[in-house]
Order: sequence, then C-alpha cells, then structure tokens
Amino acid sequence: LNQADTTGIRSGEVINPAEVQNDAFVQFIGTIRTPFTTRDLCPRQGALDGPDCRLEVLPEWQAALKGIEKFAMLDVLYWLHESRRDLVLQSPKNTGNTVGTFALRSPVRPNPIGLSQVRLIRVEDGAVIVKGLDCLDKTPLIDIKPNRCEYTPEAPFKAADQA
Ligand code: SAM
Repeated sequence: LNQADTTGIRSGEVINPAEVQNDAFVQFIGTIRTPFTTRDLCPRQGALDGPDCRLEVLPEWQAALKGIEKFAMLDVLYWLHESRRDLVLQSPKNTGNTVGTFALRSPVRPNPIGLSQVRLIRVEDGAVIVKGLDCLDKTPLIDIKPNRCEYTPEAPFKAADQA
C-alpha cells in the first residue's frame, strides 16, 4: 500500500538524497474508521473527548481482542499511508523554522507510523470504539495494546525489571 505523497515541499525542507527503500512487511490487522475524510479535517493530535472512532479488526484477528475491555486506555499504532517518506528536514506550518524529522511527530517520516493514546469506549462485533484518534478514515491499523501506565505484565517480573 504505497500512496505516498511527493508534493508540497516548503522553504528549508530537505529530501533524503538516497533512494527510499520500499516498505518492510507490516501485517495490517484492520482498518480505522474516523469522521476525518481529508487531512485538513484531522486534528494534529487526537483528543480524548473527540469523536468516536472505530478500530475494525480483520476477522482472523478478532479473537486477539479477548480481555481488552478491562483497559481504559490503549495505545493504537497505524500506518499514515498517504504521507511522503523522504524528508530529512521539515518546516512545520511553513513558518521557516526548519527541524529534523525525528524531532517532530509529523506524519512525514521514513516509516509513517502514527501512535495515539486513546480512551476505550466499548468493544462490539470485532471492533473497538475509541476516542483520541487523529487519522484519516480508512487508515490501515497496525496494532492495539494496553497503555503501559495501566498494564501489569501477566508474566512474572524479571530481574532486569527491578532496577
Ligand atoms: N498521533 C500520531 C502521532 O503522534 O504519532 C499522528 C500525529 S500526525 C501529526 C496527525 C496528522 O497526520 C493529521 O493531522 C493529518 O494531517 C495526518 N494524517 C492523518 N492520517 C493520515 C494518513 N492516513 N496518511 C497521511 N497523513 C495522515
């Protein structure tokens, strides 16, 4: 799924001169349905009191939702599929202040992975309804996991966890 945008370079921005590698293999586990149909309609970061969004999980992964309802907060990872991938320096909002890609949460990055902490509203019919997303409708879903602040590992702690 490569719908990468290659337009709209701003003053001060720099493109990686090397040939950009194609995607590594990521297994999408579903699709995110949001009310945001264009990038301009997406918030820059999702709000926990924002609109309900729906994580539609593929049938073969729906059993993997078992137990998720006990967590109030989840981390959701998604593939910002319409982003360009080749900018090393970026000029957010075209202000002339140019910074490195890894100093930004911009969707424009070599691996356009978005991460949001969301509030779980309910689980229904192989889907998880959440608040807190900022992505386009039909953005591919990579992963869902309990937010680490809430999560106590099921397995016993290891010596390395005590430090
Ligand atoms: N919350 C995530 C993070 O911090 O990793 C993503 C933040 S990113 C700044 C959110 C912006 O990415 C949105 O405002 C929108 O402009 C853009 N965006 C959303 N969905 C996208 C998609 N599927 N492809 C490309 N850009 C997208």
